Amino acid sequence: MVSLKDPSLFTQQAYIGGEWVDAPDGKTEQVTNPATGEVLGTVPVLGRDAVAHAIDVAEKAQKQWKKRTAKERSAVLMKWYDLMMENQEDLARLMTAEQGKPLAEARGEIAYASSFLQWFAEEGKRIYGDVIPTFAQGRRVIVLKEPVGVCAAITPWNFPTAMITRKAAPALAVGCAMVVKPAIETPFSALAMAVLAERAGLPKGLLSIVTGDAKTIGAEMTENPTVRKLTFTGSTAVGRLLMRQCADTVKKISLELGGNAPFIVCEDADIDAAVDGAIASKYRNSGQTCVCANRFFIHDAIYDEFAEKYAAKVSEMKVGNGAEDGVVLGPLITEKAVEKVENQIADALSKGGRILTGGKRHAKGGSFFEPTVIADANRDMLVFREETFGPMAPLIRFHSDDEALEMANDSEFGLASYFYSRDISRIWKMAEGLESGLVGVNAGVIATEVAPFGGYKQSGIGREGSKYGVEDYLEVKYVCMAGI
Ligand code: ADP
Repeated sequence: MVSLKDPSLFTQQAYIGGEWVDAPDGKTEQVTNPATGEVLGTVPVLGRDAVAHAIDVAEKAQKQWKKRTAKERSAVLMKWYDLMMENQEDLARLMTAEQGKPLAEARGEIAYASSFLQWFAEEGKRIYGDVIPTFAQGRRVIVLKEPVGVCAAITPWNFPTAMITRKAAPALAVGCAMVVKPAIETPFSALAMAVLAERAGLPKGLLSIVTGDAKTIGAEMTENPTVRKLTFTGSTAVGRLLMRQCADTVKKISLELGGNAPFIVCEDADIDAAVDGAIASKYRNSGQTCVCANRFFIHDAIYDEFAEKYAAKVSEMKVGNGAEDGVVLGPLITEKAVEKVENQIADALSKGGRILTGGKRHAKGGSFFEPTVIADANRDMLVFREETFGPMAPLIRFHSDDEALEMANDSEFGLASYFYSRDISRIWKMAEGLESGLVGVNAGVIATEVAPFGGYKQSGIGREGSKYGVEDYLEVKYVCMAGI
């Protein structure tokens, strides 16, 4: 069990239509701490009926919610934001227990997650329509922005709180309702948020948290015609599947999928800054973020210096239970995740890769893994094509900007890219040449609620955060007034 200042934030029931519920047949699923294997508790395994009920109640609640003024909706989100920040420590502890990330990162995620509530509480008040110069005498052309209606969200375990607020905050701010299915690995963070939403005065039914089998819940969310929009963060494979499932009811969709981020260090880069950026970008959340650098392209002239400095710093990173002081790398989420990293390393070694540090499971056992750097990596390796989602950095050598750009863009993904350079014309060439939705120039961590987040190519559809993040939850209505 996690010890919390406010134990009522830990709940083992799902939240549907403003009620805390168990599964009608009493079925539950265990949630474990990936650092210790300890069972933290259970959550209900709900059937389709429960999800359908959540959607029905959401529809009724949304009809009232959309009539409230933006300022009234904003006030509820602001209160929710305050409560999240007041309970930051408890929420972070809960997250570390079920997700594994170091406590400092969990605290950071609660602040990041809450920032979306604050941002969209403000942004929701600035949803402007339009008056367009008329095309005919006696007619007026007006554009209204309206909420899309009931939205469903399916979210992953790597950011158990932020991936929900990034969707729920804009949806609720503009007058939608949302039914959320958190990942089964990390439901307690989602449920704790709902406790605080309720305390903030969010009317019943506007936010439901449904737990259980992904396929069953996903089927109801995608087939139910009342759901007008599906928003998903997770793997590209599941994103494709959900997109297909949404076709029959022509739902709007937002997808935030996998990445294969290049991290380019040009010959004129500040190498020490690049080393620090590369560490932050690669090893945050033990490499389990969709914007983590996946392929490192280092210019031949500085390759050896970068590799040596990088490997030296990486080898000093402390691995362990995220709840312990000084730990910067927690466990991977599951055994399967560890096997994927092992498999990519074995493949890299068989194709000429050379381990500079790490390379195997950590002596702590379980799903702990050594932070790893592999030199002499190349484009024939699995890691060039596949997201690692673990703490392994392959270093690939390049000789010209064009070569680096060509390799960086040689991917079906296009979420984040990073590069280090101090040359202004090179910076523009790279920033414009990289095919991705986010580009970090001399920065390894760039996500913020004020900027748009989303992918090019098969990394997704739509943008989250920023002034763009509300558009995905709005319909545009053209009103033509005649007879004037
Ligand atoms: P990850 O590698 O992050 O676990 P997934 O895409 O498998 O990526 O999971 C992201 C979310 O998608 C989780 O909430 C998971 O339960 C959900 N999910 C996985 N498979 C399906 C499915 N077939 N239908 C609906 N949701 C799914």
